Amino acid sequence: MRKKLIAGNWKMNGLKADAVALAKAVFEKMDSVSNRPFDVLVCPPMNVLGYVVDVPHSSVFVGAQNVAETVKPNGAFTGDVSATMVKDLGATWTLVGHSERRTYHHETDAVVRQKAENAINNGLTVVICIGETLEEREAGKALEVVTRQVRESTPAIANATNCVLAYEPVWAIGTGKVPTTADVAEMHAAIRAEVAKNLGAEVADGMRILYGGSVKPENAKELLSVDNVDGALIGGASLKADSFWAIAETQL
Ligand code: PEP
Repeated sequence: MRKKLIAGNWKMNGLKADAVALAKAVFEKMDSVSNRPFDVLVCPPMNVLGYVVDVPHSSVFVGAQNVAETVKPNGAFTGDVSATMVKDLGATWTLVGHSERRTYHHETDAVVRQKAENAINNGLTVVICIGETLEEREAGKALEVVTRQVRESTPAIANATNCVLAYEPVWAIGTGKVPTTADVAEMHAAIRAEVAKNLGAEVADGMRILYGGSVKPENAKELLSVDNVDGALIGGASLKADSFWAIAETQL
């Protein structure tokens, strides 16, 4: 049985005081629920990652939004932060391959795979993001694009414990648009089948596949009840403790 994961991606939002206040509010709420039936992850930006880790918490995971591509733990890579450094800050997870990084930083599947491998090799659990653009969906290529991303962005060392996939249609991120539940079901089933082909049925059966893209308190229950949807990756609505909690609460 796959435990659901409610994950927040704060993107490039959060000066120190705001980030610490948001973390406090989220951690207090989440930690107050005993035997919570789902996991919770927050991914603050790198400038406040260490501060957020240091806010007292017991049952929430903290992750980065990205790690460096190089396998080196340190060196001449200006502006990069290695998986070793993320781990050293006390974070235990990281996102990789978010569509904003694939788009603005031209990250290819091969780059994303290398980053995921670096994360796993450093003991981090990785959330690999995948998803088609509107043009790709309208051209009838969504399944082909996303299954290719799964195949080429997921390293061979990935398993159900160290890796989570997040299906985020690019056209649904931050737009208020969401796919139909039938489209989500079709895509998540295709993603799981692709993982089975590449990593075996047992890994595929255990691996969590999140849905992301305009998840809000109003649509969370429906989206999270779709077959093969094992949680949500939430952008905008994770920036307020109340709306993040309202999404999580649908799973109690
Ligand atoms: C995201 O950034 O991963 C995301 C899903 O954003 P939003 O929830 O704002 O669409």
